[in-house]
Amino acid sequence: MNTCANSKVPELFGSMVFNEAVMKDRLPKDIFRALKQTIKEGTPLDPAVANVVASAMKDWALSKGGTHYTHWFQPMTGVPAEKHDSFISPNEDGTVIMEFSGKELIKGEPDASSFPSGGLRATFEARGYTAWDPTSYAFVKDGTLYIPTAFCSYTGEILDKKTPLLRSMEAISKQACRVLRLFGKECKRVTTTVGPEQEYFLINEEDYRQREDLIITGRTLFGAMPPKGQEMDDHYFGALRPRVAAFMAELDNELWKLGILSKTKHNEVAPCQHELAPIFSTTNIATDHNQLMMEMMKRVAKKHGFVCLLHEKPFDGVNGSGKHNNWSLSTDAGENLLEPGRTPASNKQFLLFLTAVVKAVDEYQDLLRVSVANAGNDHRLGANEAPPAIVSMFVGDELEAILKAIEAGETHTDVEKTMMSIGVSVLPPIPKDTTDRNRTSPFAFTGNKFEFRMPGSTLNIACTNIMLNTAVAEELRQFADALEASANFDEALASLIQREIKAHRRIIFNGNGYSAQWPVEAEARGLLNLKSTPDAIPYYTTDKNVSLFKRHGVYTKVEMESRSEILAEEYVKTLHIEALTMLDMLKKQIVPAVISYSKKLADTVAVKKSIGVDAPAELALVQALTEKTAALIDRQRDIEAAVAAAPAAVQQAPRYYHDAVIPAMEAARQTADELEMMVGETDWPFPTYSKILYYI
Ligand code: ADP
Ligand code: MG
Repeated sequence: MNTCANSKVPELFGSMVFNEAVMKDRLPKDIFRALKQTIKEGTPLDPAVANVVASAMKDWALSKGGTHYTHWFQPMTGVPAEKHDSFISPNEDGTVIMEFSGKELIKGEPDASSFPSGGLRATFEARGYTAWDPTSYAFVKDGTLYIPTAFCSYTGEILDKKTPLLRSMEAISKQACRVLRLFGKECKRVTTTVGPEQEYFLINEEDYRQREDLIITGRTLFGAMPPKGQEMDDHYFGALRPRVAAFMAELDNELWKLGILSKTKHNEVAPCQHELAPIFSTTNIATDHNQLMMEMMKRVAKKHGFVCLLHEKPFDGVNGSGKHNNWSLSTDAGENLLEPGRTPASNKQFLLFLTAVVKAVDEYQDLLRVSVANAGNDHRLGANEAPPAIVSMFVGDELEAILKAIEAGETHTDVEKTMMSIGVSVLPPIPKDTTDRNRTSPFAFTGNKFEFRMPGSTLNIACTNIMLNTAVAEELRQFADALEASANFDEALASLIQREIKAHRRIIFNGNGYSAQWPVEAEARGLLNLKSTPDAIPYYTTDKNVSLFKRHGVYTKVEMESRSEILAEEYVKTLHIEALTMLDMLKKQIVPAVISYSKKLADTVAVKKSIGVDAPAELALVQALTEKTAALIDRQRDIEAAVAAAPAAVQQAPRYYHDAVIPAMEAARQTADELEMMVGETDWPFPTYSKILYYI
C-alpha cells in the first residue's frame, strides 16, 4: 500500500505541480511577476515571457522524470484529450537535447477531425488549435508534462469546455466588480469558486469483467433487486471496509501529489457507494481537478482489485451518483460575496448578490436544467433520490424571513446565532447554524455558498458553471446599470431588491422537493418541469438564451447550436449503444442460459418419469420458464424493431429514443429480471446484484 506518513503530506502535496512556489523558485523575478499578473488578473502574456517559462517548465519536468509534454484539453465530449510529444530535438552529431519553446507552450495543433464539433468544423478543415491556460497549473503525470489548454477551430470557434468557462468567469468578474464599486470597493477581479463533491461506486473487478453491460455502458442493464437495498440506511457514513480504506488512502496520496485538495471521504447511501470532496478552488481549477480526480479514481481502483463506476445510475433500485456543485463568488481581497455575516438583514451588499442569484436561477432555470441533461442523469432527476427535475431554490428559515420582510417593506431584526445545548454537561455547547439542511432542494443556500445538486456524477462541471456564471453576470449587469444611473443609491438599492425578490419569489421553495404535491405546486407557480433530456434540449437555443451568451461574449449562436446538437447526438448514441448491448446479452447470454437451464429441468422431469416418479413441480417450472422465454424473445424483437425504425435526424431522434426505445428496453429488462429469479444462481450467466453489491 502506497500510503505515506502523515508528516510527509505537506512535502508530498503538489510535488508534481508547476505551482507558484516552483515558479518563484525557478523563474527570474520579472518573469515571475509578469506570469503571476496573468494568472491573478487575467492579463495577456508576453511571448518573450513564455519562452523563459517554457524552458523553466521543461527543466522542472525533466527533474520529475518527464520526457514528454502534452497540451491537455477538454473537447466537447467532456472527457480530457491528450497527445504526447517528446522534448527531444536532434543535434547534427546524432545526439539529442531536450527542448521546449515558448511557442510550443503557448500553442499546439492537434488533429481535431475526430472530436465532435456539432457541425462547426468540416473534417476537411480539421485544423484545431490548443492554447495554454496559465491560470491552471501544469503538472507531471506518468513521465509527461501536462499543460492545461483551451481548444478552438481554425476559424476561431471554440471546440471545448474550458474556453467558454474562462469567458463566463471574465463576464461575471466584470459585472461583479461594477457592483462592488457602487459599494465603494475597488476590486480588480471577482472569481467564482467551486467545490465539487464527487460520488462513485466501487465494485470488484472480477464481477465487472463478467458483465458486458458494465463494460460497455457503465451501468447494469439487467439485474433483479437483491433482498436488501439501501432501506436500512446502514451504509451512509458507515465504517469503511479495509480494502476501500486502502483505496481511499492511496487515492488521496495520488491527488495530493497533483495538488488536488482532497479533503473529505465517506460511504454514501447506496451499498458500495462513496463520496470524495475537495476543498474548493476557482471554477477553472476545480473543473480541471475534478477531471483528474475521476481519472485517478478509476486508475487507483484497478490497483486494489476494484472498478470505479462513475455512471449516474449503475444499479436500479439503489441511489445513483451525483456531483454537488458548491458555488460562490470571492473578491481578490478574499471576501466571499455570499457570506451573510452576523447581521444579514442589514448587509445590503450580500442581499444584492443573493438577489442576483435568485433572479438568475429563476430566469435561467431552463439553462441550468440543460446543463445537467444526459441519458444517465435522466435516471436520477425526479426519481425520488436526487433532486427533482424542477429547478428551485432553498434559502433557509432566516433568509426566508428576511426576504419576506423586504417584500412587505418591513424591517427585520437579525437574530444572533444561538448556542445549542446538547443536554450533556460534559459536551461543549455548539453554535447553531441559522439554516438547517434541506437535502431535497436542487439549489440550496448552505451558509455562505450555493449547492447545486442536479449535476450527475460523470458531468464535466464546466457545463454547469458556464451557465451559472453567465446567468448571474447578466443579473449583476442589469443591477449595475440601474444603480449606476440612480440619483440616490440607498433608495434605489432598497427598491431594486424589493422589486426583484417579489418578481422571482416563485423560484424559492423551502419544502420537500420529493413530495408528490411539489410538481403540482411548481406548475401552478409557472416553473418548468423538464423531465428528460429530450424535454430540455430545445431550451438550449431559445432567443432568450442565445442573447444572454452573445451579450457576455461566452458563446455565439452557432456555437450554441453546435453544443445543443452534440448533446442530442450523445443522448441518442448512449441509448443506441445500451439497446444493442441489451440485445447482445439477451441473445448470447440470457436466452441461451435460460434455455439450457430449462433443458436441465426437462431432463430431470424425463428421468424421474422413466423411473416412475411424477415431478409436477419441476414440470410446472419448465412450462413457466418456456413461456417466459418466449415472452423475452418477443421483447427482444421489440427492441430490435424500435431501434430499426429510429429516425436519423438529430432533431427527432432523441424524442424517439425516449418514447420508443427506452420503454422497449424497460419491458425486456423486467422479463429478464423475472427469469433471473427463476434460474439457479450458478446457471445465470453473470453476477447478480446481491453478489456485486455485497462483496466483503
Ligand atoms: P457539506 O456539509 O455539504 O459537506 P461542506 O461545508 O463540507 O458542506 O462543503 C462542501 C463543499 O463545499 C466542499 O468541497 C467545500 O470546499 C465547498 N465550499 C466551501 N466553501 C465554499 C465556497 N466559498 N465556494 C465554493 N465552494 C465552497
Ligand atoms: Mg453536499
